[in-house]
Amino acid sequence: MRQFLGILVCLVAFAPTLQAAELKGRLAQGGLVFGLAAPGSSVRLNDKPVMVAADGRFVIGFGRDAPLEQRLETIAPDGTPQVQLLQLEDRTFKIERVDGLPPKTVTPPPEYYDRRKRETAMVRKARGEISEQLFWEDGFRLPAEGRISGVYGSQRILNGKPRSPHYGLDVAAPKGTPVLAPASGIVRLAEPDFLLEGGILIIDHGFGVSSTLMHLQSLDVAVGDHVEQGQKVASLGATGRASGPHVDWRINWFDVRVDPALVLEEAADVAGAP
Ligand SMILES: [Zn+2]
Repeated sequence: MRQFLGILVCLVAFAPTLQAAELKGRLAQGGLVFGLAAPGSSVRLNDKPVMVAADGRFVIGFGRDAPLEQRLETIAPDGTPQVQLLQLEDRTFKIERVDGLPPKTVTPPPEYYDRRKRETAMVRKARGEISEQLFWEDGFRLPAEGRISGVYGSQRILNGKPRSPHYGLDVAAPKGTPVLAPASGIVRLAEPDFLLEGGILIIDHGFGVSSTLMHLQSLDVAVGDHVEQGQKVASLGATGRASGPHVDWRINWFDVRVDPALVLEEAADVAGAP
């Protein structure tokens, strides 16, 4: 009996280290999921290391076409690994086929490609600057009041050729409507005139999570500025390649594009997280 009790005590003592990470958020393609592991744990998603805060908090994201089975491994401070196989919700996205279009006759001048290359490099560099502060604790809010005019994941197939999917959540509103920071963070890119994006802002929310706001008429903040959630950061516009005034809001987890609409759903839960 004493031996039995001894085993029982051991099991109880080890129980916390065997606990799987606690997860909050939609386990879905395009989802951003907030996790909590035992303090001092390390976390790997599909064998890639994930940033973990000292208190065990972390965040992971899944792309539009992410494989439905994901492997999350939590390694406790004593080295005990715990594997969770995550099953993602398979989402269907709006696909629009347009056939019989006249072939494209406009060829952009060579300068176009040079400028585009420079701009995408600036975006990549900006998203590579990652704060270790957990700004996303505050949750997220829509960057402007208006009508949702475009959603994440939608794709057009023109003359049988798939175009790249739309990764933003578009909010249409009159030009000049205030554009607010969806969450607190640090401004990493503030450019008034990119070819496609027009006026663009990238806000680093920490741990690889960033917001990109596009087609802005004018910018109120500069690179390095700390912004608070809800602070006016720009005015809405139709700059760059935009069919009308709207703000296109994107959320990245490192180079993974996630769905802002799902992140908004989670916001309420996250606010109540420990
Ligand atoms: Zn858009």
